[in-house]
This record gives sequence, structure tokens and C-alpha cells, in this order.
Amino acid sequence: MLDRRKFIERVAMLGAAGLAPSVLKPAVLPSLPGLNKKNYPAVISTWSHGIPSNVAAMEVLLSGGNVVDAVEQGVRVPEGDPENHSVGLGGFPDRDGKVTLDASIMGPDGDAGGVCFLEDIVHPISVAKLVMQKTPHVLLAGSGALQFALENGFKKQNLLTPEVKKMWEKWLKNTQYKPEINWENHPETFHDTIGMIAIDKNGDMAGACTTSGLGYKMRGRVGDSPIIGAGMYVDNEVGGAAATGMGELVMKTLGSFLVVELMRHGKTPQQACEEAIARIVKKIPDSNKFQVGFIAMDKSGNTGAYSLQKGFNYAVYQHRKNKLIDSKSYYNS
Ligand code: ASP
Repeated sequence: MLDRRKFIERVAMLGAAGLAPSVLKPAVLPSLPGLNKKNYPAVISTWSHGIPSNVAAMEVLLSGGNVVDAVEQGVRVPEGDPENHSVGLGGFPDRDGKVTLDASIMGPDGDAGGVCFLEDIVHPISVAKLVMQKTPHVLLAGSGALQFALENGFKKQNLLTPEVKKMWEKWLKNTQYKPEINWENHPETFHDTIGMIAIDKNGDMAGACTTSGLGYKMRGRVGDSPIIGAGMYVDNEVGGAAATGMGELVMKTLGSFLVVELMRHGKTPQQACEEAIARIVKKIPDSNKFQVGFIAMDKSGNTGAYSLQKGFNYAVYQHRKNKLIDSKSYYNS
């Protein structure tokens, strides 16, 4: 298999022959003025499962580990928790009763990896990390992603727990079997992706995002979480953002990339999240029927969040405190 190092070496040879794309030249990064290093290290993540996830990420950061490993270890917590019905093991299945997982990860060097429509693997985020580190690609899907995971030592496991299987069977009896985009509003189809952004003691940033997606989704449906720039994005010069909620709205507006670009142009993380939500409201006529939440952190470790609807919360671990915060929302009813 062509691993990333060999791929880069090969492209470097092309470079010697004058054929390599200019993007491979090392970038000279401008130093940003006014960085507030007092805020380092810090972790922000979506929903209340962010609290234990932040602890796991912060342990890696405080023990001198790297920021990519920190976000990976952080989001592995809900992935491995069978009581959590929106991520990894114990996640809600699709309409056919299959749990299919989406995940993405991005590091300070701008490298990124993801998997989507992956079945039978508890920790898709770790597969995403390997896609980033060992392949010349960014996203592997479905059976190809599973094959790659198995080749790299991951073990197959049935992710549909008996408890969730019963819920799905009950849902099948009472629900007309037709696609409806707002199934997320169904009381049993929680949609609580974990998105996480971290900054280490040197100011290097990484992000991770992982989910079982919309509960009882159409078979084959992939959400925003594995799409770099939609569910999560990090630019080590500027900051990072992640999304949760109805992925279709986030994909149509490339939400996380938008939040980072808004910060690049001077918005605070809070203002950037608010403007990205306002963009959804402007572009998507029935946005009032859905939930979307964004979290963001800038290069100084400042954080922000905003959602379409009430009820979104997020966890921030900074200055030795790990706090769950209720997000403000666009719609207040
Ligand atoms: N954003 C995820 C998706 O659309 C789900 C969620 O966050 O609830 O797949």
C-alpha cells in the first residue's frame, strides 16, 4: 500500500521535475498579533458528553501528548459508551437496523482524515486518524473503510445493543417507512454528535467529530460529520469549529469552514458561530424545524457557541475548570 510518506516522497520527485503543485511548498505563516497564551491548553466539545471527553483530551495535553491524540482520545469516550445513543457503540441504527458511523479528524499541519458509512467498528475516529496518517486520501467510505480498518488491526463488533435494537423495533412498528428529513425531532432519535476542538500548550490546534448520525436515517445517508469543512474544520493559523445537529443544513452552508473563515476575518468565535447560524436561517427556508449547533475556538483559546434552537449545550475545559455551558440560540421558543 502507498503510505502517506511514500506518497509525499513520490510527489516530491515530481517537484524535482517541476511537476509538483505549489501547495506542497512549506507555507510561511504570518504570526498573529495579540495571541493570548494564558488560555492554553483548552478543549471545547459539544453536548454534556463533552465533559468526560474533555477530561480524556486534557489528560493527553497535560501529559505532553500531541493535540491530535488528545482530540482522538477525547471523542473515543462517547464512542465506546453503549449508553450513548448518538455516537459509536450503542448508536441509533438506520431504518434497516444497521449502525453506520461517520467521523473526521484534522491536525495543526492541515492534514485531515475521515470515514463515513462505516459499520461494525467501535472507534471510527481512530480509523479516521489512520486514514490521515497512512493513506494519501482524506475520506474512506463503507466497505472500503471497513476493509482498511480490519487491515489495520481493528476488530469487528456488532454496534446495535439489545436496548437500542428494541427501540428500533418499536419504531418500525409505529412509523411509516418513508424518508422524512425531520426525523431528528422524533423524541427517540437523539442527535448528539461529539465535535471537539483543542489547543495545546504551544498553541497548536486539532479537531475531531464522530457520530452515528441521524437516528433511523435512510440507508446510505452520510451527514456533515465526516466532511472536512462541514462537520469540523481546523486552520492552525486561525482556529477551529465543529457542528452538531441536522447535517444537511450544515453541509449546504459548509458550516465549520464558514465559522473558521469568519474568525479569519476578525470575528470572535461567538460572533462567527452566530453568523454561521444566521446564514443557515437565511439560506434554508424551513430552518426553524431543525436543530444545528456550532462550537468554535480561536488561536488564542477564546471559545464560543451558538445554535438554531434552544437546548444545545457544550463543554469547555480551560484554566483547570471543565464547565457545561448552555448555548444561546437563534430561535427562542
Ligand atoms: N450532525 C450529525 C448528522 O447529521 C448528527 C447530529 O449531530 O445529530 O449526521
